[in-house]
Amino acid sequence: MNVETKYIFVTGGVVSSLGKGIISSSLARLLLSRGYNVTIQKFDPYINIDPGTLNPYEHGECYVTVDGHEADLDLGHYERFTNIQTTRANNVTTGRVYQSVIDKERRGDYLGKTVQIIPHITDEIKRNIKSLGNTGKYDFVITEIGGTVGDIESTPFLEAVRQLKWEMGRNALSIHLTYVPYLKAAKELKTKPTQHSVKQLQAIGIQPDILVLRTEKELPASMRRKVAQFCNVSTEAVIQSLDAPTIYEVPLMMHAQGLDTQVLRLTGCDTDGEPDLTAWNTFLHKLDTAADTVTIGLVGKYVELQDAYKSISESLMQAATYCDHKLELIYIHSEKLNESNVDEKLNGMDGIIIAPGFGQRGIEGKFVALKWCREHNIPTFGICLGMQCMVIEFARNVLGYTDANSTEMDTKTSHNVIDLMEEQKSISNMGGTMRLGAYDCRLKEGSIPAEAYGKLNIRERHRHRFEFNGDYRERFENAGMHCVGENPDTGLVEVVQIPELTWFVGTQYHPEYQSTVLNPNPLFISFIKAAIKFGDSKK
Ligand code: GLN
Repeated sequence: MNVETKYIFVTGGVVSSLGKGIISSSLARLLLSRGYNVTIQKFDPYINIDPGTLNPYEHGECYVTVDGHEADLDLGHYERFTNIQTTRANNVTTGRVYQSVIDKERRGDYLGKTVQIIPHITDEIKRNIKSLGNTGKYDFVITEIGGTVGDIESTPFLEAVRQLKWEMGRNALSIHLTYVPYLKAAKELKTKPTQHSVKQLQAIGIQPDILVLRTEKELPASMRRKVAQFCNVSTEAVIQSLDAPTIYEVPLMMHAQGLDTQVLRLTGCDTDGEPDLTAWNTFLHKLDTAADTVTIGLVGKYVELQDAYKSISESLMQAATYCDHKLELIYIHSEKLNESNVDEKLNGMDGIIIAPGFGQRGIEGKFVALKWCREHNIPTFGICLGMQCMVIEFARNVLGYTDANSTEMDTKTSHNVIDLMEEQKSISNMGGTMRLGAYDCRLKEGSIPAEAYGKLNIRERHRHRFEFNGDYRERFENAGMHCVGENPDTGLVEVVQIPELTWFVGTQYHPEYQSTVLNPNPLFISFIKAAIKFGDSKK
């Protein structure tokens, strides 16, 4: 469809974690299903250049785009909902904005002027906001502003939004997401925080066009009217976002209340017709009606914070759904796993995932888990560090190299079966310097991944500095661990498998970054199928 590019800004108020990413993704899903071209971008007010250097405890998982950008986990939601790949341009931080302005200042681009937040920083934010729209590829650009209205660090972004709304008129729209708490003692829903949050936005000069009210209880029509009256929006533009059994229901809930119609009406687009959600509904129907359960154990060290493994848990859920099963995901703390409790912790599982990660903490628990998995022939999937652990455990317990390790954990090991990549040896800066993004991988005919993908040449995303040490390849293959996927240009080992076992596969790449609701990753499907079969065989 060809309309002038429309910009939709999504802000949040009252508290954080209201689900701006899910509302943005749901709106994108609805507009896409109406035939529009849509992209979503996220502006994060923190000063890190990107989240790549952040501990997962800070902001959850670091997502990786095809072009090798380390991004906020909301970009994972965007891709899972829209089935469209994002890039570096879809996630910008305060740090990136300042870096670019300071670089320009050093080059002398500002011709002797004093460089200031307004207009220089705000102009740079505006340039970034418009950069995807300027490609001419999109009818709608949805821009999510991280943080909450009133935060000091969000202010320049909101000022940029104010200016753009003024400049673009009907082509720009503001959606503000707030929270309506329920006070148990008074048995009442309270809209005052919403009114205050909107006032705060108005004080900045932004009049929201649509309000989305997050609530645990149904909002009565009278309350929506009241909010509309206090906040200068029409009643139809006050939309409730009730807690949903699954985030993938949210597009339907938003459509039922006309969020997409309001957006189209307010931006002067045709409101006729309905979004085609056939495939989406098929997925939801499967999710709803699955009777049996598949139980997967995820062994990792960030299990207290489940956002740290967001893409993995979503990929597993998608795969289980397509296999007509509900997913029960049990998080198993690798630091607490040892020889004496491994049997009790892993015994009830139908399949085990060994999670990605960095550093020594929790790694010995992963080896204990892997030995148990290998000896019990349970479907096992190692991802990135998980794959590297598979290699180390095999080296120690099958090849007999008792001190085998990755040089990430022990630089003095006499068997560096996992070693720093050559290209990494000269790197001293930590930010954005890993092997990142999509690379080709050639799979071995007849291997599990080759069967799963149904082809031999694939492309998956990466985020690592260490790799399988090729000097050991023959010794591993002779002892039963095969390299069944490699980079066609460099020979880097991408996938290992023990063919003697039913499903024991490790990937250096992260298949979880490429699994969406409408296009689940084939390797996860293959793993879940094996887990279901294993579970059934125990019954
Ligand atoms: N720490 C390992 C490496 O850098 C694995 C990284 C990961 O699991 N993403 O190679």
